[in-house]
Amino acid sequence: MKKITTELQHLGQAKFDSETGLAPVALPSMRTSTVRFKDMATHDATQLAKQAGARAATYGRVGLDTHAALEEILCTLEQGQRAFLAPSGMAAISMTLLALLNQDEHALVIDSAYGPVRNLQDKILCRLGIDMDFVAPNVNSLNAALRPQTKILYLESPGSLLLEMLDLPQLANWAHEHGLIVVADNTWGSGYIYKPLELGADVSVVAVTKYIGGHSDLMLGAAIAKDSEIINKLNLTHYALGSTVSADDAWLAIRGARTLPIRMQTCAANASAVYNWLAEQNWVHKVFTPAWPADPGYVLWQRDALGANGLFAIAIDLTNAQARLFVDNLSLFGIGYSWGGYESLITIVDQKALSEHSYWRAISQSIKSPAAVLRLHIGLEDPADLINDIQQAYALAIA
Ligand SMILES: *Cc1c(COP(=O)(O)O)cnc(C)c1O
Repeated sequence: MKKITTELQHLGQAKFDSETGLAPVALPSMRTSTVRFKDMATHDATQLAKQAGARAATYGRVGLDTHAALEEILCTLEQGQRAFLAPSGMAAISMTLLALLNQDEHALVIDSAYGPVRNLQDKILCRLGIDMDFVAPNVNSLNAALRPQTKILYLESPGSLLLEMLDLPQLANWAHEHGLIVVADNTWGSGYIYKPLELGADVSVVAVTKYIGGHSDLMLGAAIAKDSEIINKLNLTHYALGSTVSADDAWLAIRGARTLPIRMQTCAANASAVYNWLAEQNWVHKVFTPAWPADPGYVLWQRDALGANGLFAIAIDLTNAQARLFVDNLSLFGIGYSWGGYESLITIVDQKALSEHSYWRAISQSIKSPAAVLRLHIGLEDPADLINDIQQAYALAIA
């Protein structure tokens, strides 16, 4: 097996033209609304392959070469058999849950998972009689919330907001002992630094919007699976829901994937320079990232992850009003959600969202108040400039 950095430069190449013997280096965006069959025999064979569950495009919705190339890249990153594209990370999550849950069934969701999953439950899934419990990531809490109708364990490792590293192999073992399907949001790892399907998950969902797109100019999501029964359910639901992605967006995602390793490595190195500096400041109570040796998730991160990225959170000794002033005075950090692009971003983490995380409830008791929590994404800027920016903004915030 070649190294993934090599694979990412060679997957999804354009085929040579049979007459000229030429091919472009970069696969073009193959825009199409429908497919032309060479003859009726090809039509029939393609229909049959599609009915048998193969990736056979009989119409534009599935997409042709550009989509197929992105799917191949995602399968290689995640070590899956099939990838299904969706117009956003959230659309990939909703497609997956709609594919795998029936009326009156129940899902266990680890309470540090991406917050909008709660909104999906409240607005859509509850109308189908589907129920969810949000639980702490330990076997006692899971056992207590398990029901005869439970079908899915949904989790995100490391978790949203505070990067709580989970023992995915242990949680997946527990889930499989109870016949559950394990769905993991792998936006943090994006298939490069964390591989849920290899750690026991059955489906990996990725917001390609973040690190794979990598340039803050694209919204796209994917669900990747390895088991044929689950693939079949995703395939039927993907087609039935009419979830489609523009070839241009698939093309941008492929372009992003080529440089995923170097961008992620540089973001991770820059982030560690910034949080190592922050950890030395007396106004910083705590740094949250599993790549930080004092983090509770550090040992699991060393065992299960292959690297880090530019994301971390900090709890700081500022009132909410001072934290707002601090953020307003930063000049190199955009105030904004999302992450995984080339640039640094910061958000003040909502206390209500934090209070839903058992991890925060346990840790916050050891932090003296007042404590604002900020989430930072460190981009490709020089970290010395970012540190200077933080320093001057802090001075203004406490002045
Ligand atoms: C951003 C994000 C999503 C949703 O992706 P969109 O493309 O914005 O819909 C899902 N999970 C995590 C962890 C994310 O950060």
